Amino acid sequence: MNQQPTWGWPTDRLPRVLVVDDQAINIRVAFEALRGDHEVFMATSGEQGLQVFRDARPDLVLLDVVMPGMDGHEVCSQIKAGPDGADVPVIFITGHDSDQAQVQGLGHGAVDFIAKPFHPEVLRARVRNHLLLKFQTDYLRSAALYDGLTGLANRRHFEEVFAGRWRAAERNAQPCAVLMIDVDHFKQYNDCYGHQAGDECLRQVAGAIGKALMRPMDLAARYGGEEFVCLLPETSLPNAGPVAERLLCNVRELAVPHAASGAAPVVTVSVGIATSLGGSGRAPQDLLADADAQLYRAKAAGRNRACAASA
Ligand code: GH3
Ligand code: MG
Ligand code: MG
Repeated sequence: MNQQPTWGWPTDRLPRVLVVDDQAINIRVAFEALRGDHEVFMATSGEQGLQVFRDARPDLVLLDVVMPGMDGHEVCSQIKAGPDGADVPVIFITGHDSDQAQVQGLGHGAVDFIAKPFHPEVLRARVRNHLLLKFQTDYLRSAALYDGLTGLANRRHFEEVFAGRWRAAERNAQPCAVLMIDVDHFKQYNDCYGHQAGDECLRQVAGAIGKALMRPMDLAARYGGEEFVCLLPETSLPNAGPVAERLLCNVRELAVPHAASGAAPVVTVSVGIATSLGGSGRAPQDLLADADAQLYRAKAAGRNRACAASA
């Protein structure tokens, strides 16, 4: 087998493949070709295929086109329209591989065609190639959007989401809040406990920050170093304050000892809060600058607290 990069290829489980075909014999042949190095799920109708897709969360789908009831095109369209389907490759296995049939199938979101009857080795090789691409794409997407240390959104992802949410706030004249968060006396933490313990501390703080956010549209991100930021769409100052207090409390309750902190015997953070109404002529950068100024005030006032400005 040729050596290809295997970024993202799962190391703790087998790739999951769903085979949907109304003919049991076809499923059997595919199963025999893939067993051993794939976990194979099977369905004998389109309806059942969608159900198994939702339950088994496969990495790739092999789909018959002509089936009684819901046909393969409809199944493919529904998979692609669902929340988990956009990134899962669907390969049609079909006896009808005319140009027109292929154009139609690709139009429904399939990545490839395999003509019946197929050779098991051809099926294995195609499945492997599409799984490689899928896992690489997932890996690169995750690396582009998320911070490797904490798993939170990274700064670029935050800024993109913020820009979109701010446009929505402007359209609807809704308020939007930003929390800028910085770990207190973190240089001393590293000096006292070592850089590795510092990394572990950042992971825990990130978890405590994420837990303080309750709404699906809220977003926590690592802004850089030991600084974090939260976006709270459709949130005004009276509602952002309690989120900041919950966040401060969550971090204190981690009870991570910090003997060298002047603020408390445990690791704490300071928070700057800024809110603004969409349509007030301000930009995301203005909110971030306001939150930063408030963070500076919280630091100067003794740390382990939140300060707020509203515009
Ligand atoms: P303040 O309370 O005023 O925020 O003081 P501070 O010591 O936290 O602030 P300062 O900006 O002086 O130091 C930040 C420290 O955070 C220095 C840097 O080494 C550390 N740091 C930044 N990123 C990381 C990281 O990824 N891992 C670890 N372990 N430390 C980090
Ligand atoms: Mg800092
Ligand atoms: Mg700091």
